[in-house]
Amino acid sequence: MATHAPEVPTTAPAPRHAPGPSEPSTQPTTTEPSLQDSPTKPSLQVRNAAQVLSQSSNAVFFGGAGVSTESGIPDFRSEAGLYHAEHTYGHSPEDLLSVTFAGENPELFFTYYKENLVHLSARPNPAHQALANWESNGPLSAVITQNIDGLHQAAGSRTVHELHGSIWRQYCTRCHERYTLEWTLNPTNCREPNHVVPQCPACGSMVRPDVTLYGEALPEGVMEASAQAIAAADTMIVGGTSLAVYPAAGLVDFFRGSTLILINTSPTPLDHRADIVITQPIGRAMEDIRSLLDE
Ligand code: NAD
Ligand code: ZN
Repeated sequence: MATHAPEVPTTAPAPRHAPGPSEPSTQPTTTEPSLQDSPTKPSLQVRNAAQVLSQSSNAVFFGGAGVSTESGIPDFRSEAGLYHAEHTYGHSPEDLLSVTFAGENPELFFTYYKENLVHLSARPNPAHQALANWESNGPLSAVITQNIDGLHQAAGSRTVHELHGSIWRQYCTRCHERYTLEWTLNPTNCREPNHVVPQCPACGSMVRPDVTLYGEALPEGVMEASAQAIAAADTMIVGGTSLAVYPAAGLVDFFRGSTLILINTSPTPLDHRADIVITQPIGRAMEDIRSLLDE
């Protein structure tokens, strides 16, 4: 959600090489279902992705809010999300979640945040589970996520680079004392008159979530670690992200492996750079890829 790019430790990314003759053909990259495809049969793109992953020795995943929509957490750059924010709160999500807005109107900031970004009952879906499985038993070396919901860790992923922080961590803006999410959700820990803004009992200042707001820099070291993981990978899966939030979206430029796989229910600005484009809900797509790999 930030706008400032920290320095990343690599020089200009090298161009990716095209798949060689011994590698599986990932062409054509059409996103339309072919005649052989059926609702029950994995699409050509899904089968190609499974073949690529079966031969990968170092894959990375880079995802966004779309990874968690099948867990019941809405994204907010979709039309419904934007409309909901404007209609209910009178502002866009970018405004409501900006550092300026949080400082000037903490009541509305916390109301929107708690009502829209905290989903205590959400559970990992097949996309989170497949990624955790491929880290333990397959080629996946890292998950890089713009999500703040902690669902990759809940599914069992261990190497998770959280570009925008996590709802599960909170700290006092003055004395830096740490608090749990449950603590901040308890109205008795929040200040008068609305009991929505958490207040540090040690120093009386506001307690805020450890998430990156629009206008803030990304957490130190996370961009660097993510760029390094991507630069070392032979395969990159990008899923459930509009690729509209920079500098996170620019991470794709660090990929110099052979196959870029894109999974999204709607077109993205980088579809033309992908070797395989899968236009499907990511949970279903990942479940199908996992089944093919397990065969
Ligand atoms: P975004 O820019 O990553 O956009 C979501 C993308 O996912 C869209 O392109 C949409 O077409 C796609 N998508 C939705 N459901 C999908 C599915 N089932 N399968 C495949 N693709 C799907 O995210 P955003 O909503 O604009 O949010 C911006 C930022 O806000 C995020 O980067 C994140 O920091 C934060 N956010 C986090 C969460 C979360 O933690 N779950 C949820 C909403 C927003
Ligand atoms: Zn304090």
